[in-house]
Amino acid sequence: MASVDSNAQSRVVHMYDGRPTFSCANCSAVIALQDELISKSFSGRDGRGYLMHSSVNVRMGNKEDRPLLTGVHTVADVFCLGCGDRVGWFYHKASDHSQKYKEGKYLLERERLVKDNAWKLDG
Ligand SMILES: [Zn+2]
Repeated sequence: MASVDSNAQSRVVHMYDGRPTFSCANCSAVIALQDELISKSFSGRDGRGYLMHSSVNVRMGNKEDRPLLTGVHTVADVFCLGCGDRVGWFYHKASDHSQKYKEGKYLLERERLVKDNAWKLDG
């Protein structure tokens, strides 16, 4: 018999209505819908980052003030619900007025994501 996924991960979504998603590179949980992408030209901590309207299957860490390229922001790291890996951060507040549009958005590290198209064939 095929093995069954542990119940610990039963809340984690691996498919999202057949829509294209970004998934965790480590455990393949859906992290965001590609529809929710705002911009690909952001910098994450380890490389490029994606600015997203929303994210799923993540939990948020503690708020902290962090100096970023565009000034000090109040952010919270976000972690994959499936494996606990850090996948990016959430912008609570931006100090610079020109950066306010990021508030309430997610920055996801491109390195931590796999682009997943629902119609892709396995193998
Ligand atoms: Zn994961």
